[in-house]
Amino acid sequence: MLQIRLTGHSHDYPICDVVRLLTGVIPKYEEGNVWAQVPFEAVIESKVIPGKEVLTEVLSGFPDLSLEKRCIREMLLGPEEPVTKDGLSVSREVKRQLYALLCDALEKRSPWGSLTGIRPTQVASEASGPSDLTRIYGVREDKAKLAFSTKEGEEQVLSASDPGSLHIYIGIPFCPSRCAYCSFVAQEAPRKRDLLPSYVDAVLKEIDLVLPHITFPIETLYIGGGTPTVLDEELFSRLIQGVFSRPELKALKEICVEAGRPDTITEGKLQTLLSCGITRICINPQTLCNETLARVGRKHTAEDFESAFAMARKMGFSVINTDLIAGLPGESAEEFCESLRRIISLEPENITVHSLSKKRRSDLSREEIVRQEEEDLSKMEEMLGYSYRALSEAGYKPYYLYKQKDTLGGHENVGYQKGDTPCIYNVAMMSDQRSVLSFGAGGMSKRIYPQEGNHVRIERCACIKEPTQYIRDVEEMAKRKISFFSE
Ligand code: SF4
Repeated sequence: MLQIRLTGHSHDYPICDVVRLLTGVIPKYEEGNVWAQVPFEAVIESKVIPGKEVLTEVLSGFPDLSLEKRCIREMLLGPEEPVTKDGLSVSREVKRQLYALLCDALEKRSPWGSLTGIRPTQVASEASGPSDLTRIYGVREDKAKLAFSTKEGEEQVLSASDPGSLHIYIGIPFCPSRCAYCSFVAQEAPRKRDLLPSYVDAVLKEIDLVLPHITFPIETLYIGGGTPTVLDEELFSRLIQGVFSRPELKALKEICVEAGRPDTITEGKLQTLLSCGITRICINPQTLCNETLARVGRKHTAEDFESAFAMARKMGFSVINTDLIAGLPGESAEEFCESLRRIISLEPENITVHSLSKKRRSDLSREEIVRQEEEDLSKMEEMLGYSYRALSEAGYKPYYLYKQKDTLGGHENVGYQKGDTPCIYNVAMMSDQRSVLSFGAGGMSKRIYPQEGNHVRIERCACIKEPTQYIRDVEEMAKRKISFFSE
């Protein structure tokens, strides 16, 4: 058992994040101590000394490591007592020192070193080059370079966007079936068929109530989910026509609609989008291996995706994004790479490569889980390494990047673009530098208050997640958002 005693600070979340990153288990926090199951007994103290010096020390136990096994500790902290790095926040320094101590003892590494947050590019924007990320936080060299090249893409997008602008999200949290790996609030549409018309009406009502009170310049609109195209043609048209009857949404820089599941796309729905001037959509196969698609519960085939893509292209959609997931259950690295090659050959403007979030397989033995995870990790390296090389060779550049907790191997999600075709909404949303107004159940609105220098204050406003309750309380939700954006 490992006990980490927090003295002079209460950064238990960052401490838990580092432990979770290296052990894969959520530790327990109790009265100033973090507890985690590890293969050795040890007590560590994470201390903040007045004046903001951070010192992480072993008080008892801990494996006695030979010099060559102390490589991360030596690289990040040096041979002596840890010294607080100038210019780092206490939270980052607490994580950095703990990471350096623990990863040698646990013989684990994270490709992103001690960076556990969702936006490594934000840390990159404060560093002078990729080697800083490696030297200070232990980020692997290839990931440090990826963070820097993505940061440049992000900065370009943000420099063309008004810092005071607002970006709108409309959520349709229904899908034709539930994917085995889904972590969203999406519900299966076939079971909720009777609810869908009232849900669309509620969303349109919320939009009608809130938009007249919004004074921010609106730049982009993203309709996501779920799968918005799961609505039948008539209902889909009611939603889209209703949204674009609003005068506030007539002259936006960008409108994107997720047509996620290829089997929900029809010529009629695409025609509805085109009639409102929408030419940017996402068609997301996640893999082009039919066996994997069946295994994860997606009720479409690779051929469904290819014909939906061809139809959208023929009808005139000028920017198409496709999503792929690396690490889907039972999929080999070769199958992933083949999917990527087939997608590149279709020349979508955007390709987003996600890393699968881990799920525990409780019916396997501990040894089996460890063996499976080791296999998964080396496959992930092969898949992501290949994706970066193949996409670069095909002329794609990364332009946004974020990390989620518990992805296989601690890897990232990256959006790539060909030419100058970024999805501004994605960058605005993930950068935490632009305000977002969300409509629909489960949406999170956020307001950015610029502060001195690079600092921003972020406030969030949640919406009811359950669609039936959302429909019932939509006026209340609208009032909440009007007040949130008018204070
Ligand atoms: S399509 Fe996306 S939102 Fe829908 S069930 Fe699958 S993962 Fe979840």
